[in-house]
Amino acid sequence: MPELPEVETIVRQLAPDIGNKRIKTIELLDPRFEDLETSAIDGARIVAVERLGKQIVISFARDSAILGAIAIHLRMSGRLIWIPEQKTKATSAPEFLRAASLKQEHCRARLQLEGGSLCFFDTRRFGTIKISDTRETFLPRGLDPFAKEFTAERFGELLSNSQQAVKVWLLRQDKLVGIGNIYACEILYAARVNPFLSVAKLSPKQIGLVHASTLSILNAAIENCGTTFSDFQDSHGELGSYQEFLKVYNRENEDCVGGCGEITRVSQQGRSTYYCSTCQK
Ligand SMILES: [Zn+2]
Repeated sequence: MPELPEVETIVRQLAPDIGNKRIKTIELLDPRFEDLETSAIDGARIVAVERLGKQIVISFARDSAILGAIAIHLRMSGRLIWIPEQKTKATSAPEFLRAASLKQEHCRARLQLEGGSLCFFDTRRFGTIKISDTRETFLPRGLDPFAKEFTAERFGELLSNSQQAVKVWLLRQDKLVGIGNIYACEILYAARVNPFLSVAKLSPKQIGLVHASTLSILNAAIENCGTTFSDFQDSHGELGSYQEFLKVYNRENEDCVGGCGEITRVSQQGRSTYYCSTCQK
């Protein structure tokens, strides 16, 4: 499932591609979406493309009056692909889809814009589309790691009153939004903190290290356009490259880059935790 860096990658690419474009129409091709209220969308203009938690939120307006927002959650296999008009002409559209391993029948929704179309492909159909008259509907409960409020001090406050293992805590979307299994493992390795340590036992120094590692790991992943597991693609149909930089995730029995031993995989509350038992004592 895409985590924060993958969704941020898509949003940063889409913003210049579709920002300020007029929406000709929205086509909902999956019966799951047939109850969505779309009447305000046709003819409106896209005024913002942003990431709210792990959702891609597209706000639309008419004559500078905000009419609403569309929120897309990719879940397991959703992809949001911008297909500029020159690529949709008869010869090149199938080629483009084939090159990106996409099938037309997996297109579940389409925003027809001036200059091209934004297609939501989803093979497994867990992805969601929601429409509301205000973007505030889609604000996540948890704090965003890239919000300026996310300081080491605030992080310490969020951690208080919990006895959970730090790895399990990092996955809690009601506390900190956007971190999934891959980056939780990588953040704790970078901070040299044991994933099974209770957050109540984290020292102030460790809290500072986990905070700093959260930002550095997520930033590095965004710079490399996310991680390609379960076939993540960005909005141009390209694969991410951060998996080449992973230090522990999916590296069971491989050597720790610190040269101290092998990476261990342990099931922790039903999810695989990867760590180095030497570096992360
Ligand atoms: Zn190690």
